[in-house]
Order: sequence, then structure tokens, then C-alpha cells
Amino acid sequence: MKIAFEERLEGAEGGAGDGPAYDPDATMKLDVPRVLGAAGPAGGPVLICIGGLHGNEPSGVLALQRLFHDLDEDSRGLCGRIIGLTGNRRALACGQRFVDIDLNRAWTYERIERVCEKREIVESEDKELRSLDKALHDAIHGSNQPFVFDLHSTSGDGPAFVTFDDTLRNRALAFEIPAPHVLGLEEELAGTLLGYLNTKGITAVGFESGQHQDPKSVDRALAAIWISMETAGVLEKGTRPEVARARAYLASESAGLPEVVEVRHREPVEEGDGFVMDPGYASFQPVAEGEHLARRGEEDVHADRSGLILMPLYQPQGEDGFFVIQPVRPFWLRLSAALRRVHIEKVVHWLPGVRRHPGKSGVFIVDRRRARWLAREVFHLLGFRKEGEDGEELIMAPRDITTESP
Ligand SMILES: [Zn+2]
Repeated sequence: MKIAFEERLEGAEGGAGDGPAYDPDATMKLDVPRVLGAAGPAGGPVLICIGGLHGNEPSGVLALQRLFHDLDEDSRGLCGRIIGLTGNRRALACGQRFVDIDLNRAWTYERIERVCEKREIVESEDKELRSLDKALHDAIHGSNQPFVFDLHSTSGDGPAFVTFDDTLRNRALAFEIPAPHVLGLEEELAGTLLGYLNTKGITAVGFESGQHQDPKSVDRALAAIWISMETAGVLEKGTRPEVARARAYLASESAGLPEVVEVRHREPVEEGDGFVMDPGYASFQPVAEGEHLARRGEEDVHADRSGLILMPLYQPQGEDGFFVIQPVRPFWLRLSAALRRVHIEKVVHWLPGVRRHPGKSGVFIVDRRRARWLAREVFHLLGFRKEGEDGEELIMAPRDITTESP
């Protein structure tokens, strides 16, 4: 479905005078089916791209529409299957992040059981969850190499970046995209689709393509999809010039930005708490410790450390005010890959202050008072994420419950 945004986009690119004026603040409303398109042979690798899991983030949907239009005209090189799915259809039709609850916080086992198995529908997003879950099942069915690519955008300005749970499998897909890579975001957020898929052993990576209404957000999302098609084995290597162009485009867009960063702070927002971000912040903008960043009612909110700001909140809906991130040196990534390949996690409970979880296999309890130095960061290196916290104790679970191969 061709909609107003693309017309505005063309208008913007065409310069002043021709076409309707581009209005970056206009809310876009999209009426789109669950399956946006599918191409290529089944039975081998499959790449499933999801656009609009948040209803005010149209760029992924628009990028997929463009992709399937292009593939319709020219399907050269397709050797696996690419499928485009819509996230929150009803929220997209309203042009808002969600209707009742955030669909990207709804993927908990508890809700999935209630909605998909017991068929108890309470919120609007329960329906979306059930329908999208079924569409994902259908899309994955018959493939032993499923990849999921989840397309988002941000309310504030900023460059594109890749988000993923740090498993070796996800790294393989994520690091092919020349844009900053953000680690640790999934761990801060409960019930994300990516987190859910990762616990099922499916390679699943997220892409934030820039500001919601920025026409470039569509171009960046499309570029990331072309690259991922080749990485996932859906597109024969070297057959399409679009892939090389996409790499060059994203690399030029990301020039000067850090390659890998980790989330160090999340500023939570609760409904009605009066959180208002100071104006003018963009993702990856440096902030200094103590800098005034926002207000929460009468209270001032300052940066608790120096770093770069990520995803400052400039929309009414959302549970995250902003994040503070810091660069990770490549050395640590290489070290962690090496440690995971020799499965050093099998002996980690020999360390003081670390014990196995009595009820959950593969999960460890870390006493922060006794194992201060290896609390969270070292477990990150080994491929764990924080599953919970109990006073001084951290509960660390593997990011990917299936055994990883190098
Ligand atoms: Zn989003």
C-alpha cells in the first residue's frame, strides 16, 4: 500500500515546489496486512523482517514494501526465503506506539501461554501477539536456519544502530551491518520479542533506523535488510549490487561513531510521573556526569555518569526516558568469543561467591559482596544476562538456552 509518507518523502527529495510539503511531525497512519510480502524458495534459510512492532514507527513497514516491490521486478540471487511481517497492526492504523500495552514488552511466557494457549484476550495487543506469534510460526516452519530482523525507529534524532542480545549467533548477523552495535539493551527491558526469540535459540537482531518520521530512516532500514539477506544466506553472495551499495551507505552514515557500546544506565518512566526530556538531545550525543537531562515533575534528572545518550524520549508513550551508553573495546569482544567457545561457564561455579541455581539448570547465583569483581560484566563476557536480582544476589542466565557453536 502506497501511503502519504512516501509521497511526502518524494516531495522532500524533489526539493521545494513539487509534491506535498514534508511535515516531520505529521502522524502517519498505515493500514497494512500482517504479511507484507514473501519471496524466494522455501526449505532453506529464512529471514523474517518485522516492521511496526510499535505503531508510530512506520519506516520498517515502508522499507519492506519497497523491498518486495524491487524483488517483484528482479528476484536474481534469491536462494532462500525472505518474509516481511507487520507488528502492531492496530497501533499502526492509529499512528501511535501502542493501543493498550507495549507489544514489545508483551513477549513473556506467562502472557504467551494465556493468550496463545488459553486464548484469553484482554488487551488489544493480546490479539496482535496471537496473530504475530502464529505468523512467525508459519514463517519459521520448515526452515532449520531462521533469522529474525526487528525494525524500529526512535522519537529523538540520531543515527541508525543495531541492538541484540550478545550471543555468538546474533553477533554473526549483527556485525555485518556497518552501524554502531548496542549491547545490553534487551537485558534492561522485559518481554521484548527479541529476548523471547533468543531464549528459543533463534537468531534475532534489532535495527533502529533513526527518527520515526525521517525519510532516511526508511533508506537505512532497507539497506540493513539487503545486507542481512546476504548474511542469512537468503541472497547468494555477490549477486546483487544493492548489498554493496547498502554497506557503503550505512558505513558513511555511521562514520565517526563507536562500533560497539554497552548500556550502563536506563532512566525508567512510569505513566503519569511527569517525565519531560530536555529539548535538543540526539542519540550518541555525549553527556557529562551531573548534566541536567530531564525533569520528572518537580524533580531534576541528571546524568549519573558520563557517556553517550541513547534514545531520549520525545513522545508521550514509552517506558524509557533515555539510556546512557559507553563504548566497549574490541578486545573484550574477542576475549568473550574465545571464552564461550571453550565453554568456560562450566567451571564458573568454582569461583567464590558463585553457585548454581538450585532449581534452574545453567543458571547461576552471584553474591555481589563476595564476587564483586566478576558480578555483571564478567558474566556478560561469558554470554549471560541478568535474569533477576535478590538483594545482594544477581541471578544470571545464559542468553541463549541452546548450546552455541562457534
Ligand atoms: Zn520501537
